[in-house]
Amino acid sequence: MLSWEQTPSLEPMRCCRAWVEINLAALRHNVQQFKGILPASTQLMAVVKADAYGHGAVAVAQTALQAGAAWLGVATVPEGIELRAAGIQAPTLVMGAVNSPEEMQAIAHWRLQPTLVKPKQALVFSDTLSGLAAARPVDVHLKIDTGMARLGFPWAEATDFVQFVQPLPHLKIDSLYSHLATADDLDPTIMQLQHQRFTAAVDNLRRQQLLPPRLHLANTAAALADPALHYDQVRVGLGIYGLYPAPHLRHRVDLQPVMEVKARITHLKEVPAGTGVSYGHRYRCDRTTRLAVVGIGYADGVPRILSNRLQVMVKGHLAQQIGTITMDQLMLDVTHIPDLQEGDIVTLLGRDGRYTIGPDDWATMANTISWEILCGFKHRLPRITVEQPLPARAVAQG
Ligand SMILES: *Cc1c(COP(=O)(O)O)cnc(C)c1O
Repeated sequence: MLSWEQTPSLEPMRCCRAWVEINLAALRHNVQQFKGILPASTQLMAVVKADAYGHGAVAVAQTALQAGAAWLGVATVPEGIELRAAGIQAPTLVMGAVNSPEEMQAIAHWRLQPTLVKPKQALVFSDTLSGLAAARPVDVHLKIDTGMARLGFPWAEATDFVQFVQPLPHLKIDSLYSHLATADDLDPTIMQLQHQRFTAAVDNLRRQQLLPPRLHLANTAAALADPALHYDQVRVGLGIYGLYPAPHLRHRVDLQPVMEVKARITHLKEVPAGTGVSYGHRYRCDRTTRLAVVGIGYADGVPRILSNRLQVMVKGHLAQQIGTITMDQLMLDVTHIPDLQEGDIVTLLGRDGRYTIGPDDWATMANTISWEILCGFKHRLPRITVEQPLPARAVAQG
């Protein structure tokens, strides 16, 4: 597929049927908001996995680092390489599983930092590095499972794990960490249990003088929920993109959405009462209807399950989406909106006049979470970075 850089004549804002706008001013603001609630000794890791939750990893990483983030977090080795290839040198933790010697060699070559979750993996990694000419020590991060039941060594055996890894050649333990399963839950019981397990592991390690230099536990929700979870670093994803993990966590920081999704009206027409619209005729016009075809569909990241339920913004008005959302296009009822023309811009996510529609609104309707809505926007949509002024409240607080 041609990238937009290879087709400069199709300047996206002017000719595109649909695109994603990334407001770097909002991103900086959000990073600074988190910095503002962290003690100076706690570092901020900007989590930029999954192409920065669909926002574009390189631009987000560069901007977050300028705004005060010290670390980057990715899920996979190729995600880390993308940052390095773009010249980004900040310490970068690969949070996902790294098992093959090939991935381990790439980690060493690109100076990424792996997550280790079991002794055997540490051994293979150490052996792999021993086989490389002129290998430097690689900083590694040991992950323990305190109750997420995903990656991690059992918390009760953390001491054995550290004891095993510490003497291995070429590996230098930089941190011990764990991940919380319910930090966005109103009921803190399970989060507290995980925290107790983490603390117990840490206390044991300290007693045996095996404590790694740094500890971290918090994602966005935990960073907002409880300063006791901040430790030496917080790993913030969703929050830097301007969304709250849960309504009860809204009070500590002012966050501004970074992403807006826009598309153009590609065809306008009037259809008579009784017209069935789109595949399956799942919408039937009950009156003469002015219908707008818009150049975005489920292949771009608009969930098909929102068919007939989605509302969008057009020139300061709300418009109802009608009929089944198709792969590349969807239809609107714009009968009530005056003076529309083909080429006019439709805002699917973002602000238009007095209306705001966010990923949380879609997530509620689609029975999912805002994280999935954000990273659902595909590369077919060009990402365009912009500097949009923030609403007055955000500026006053920031
Ligand atoms: C994705 C991820 C995060 C960030 O989570 P948010 O809820 O988006 O802040 C933090 N830590 C780990 C291990 C992750 O996988």
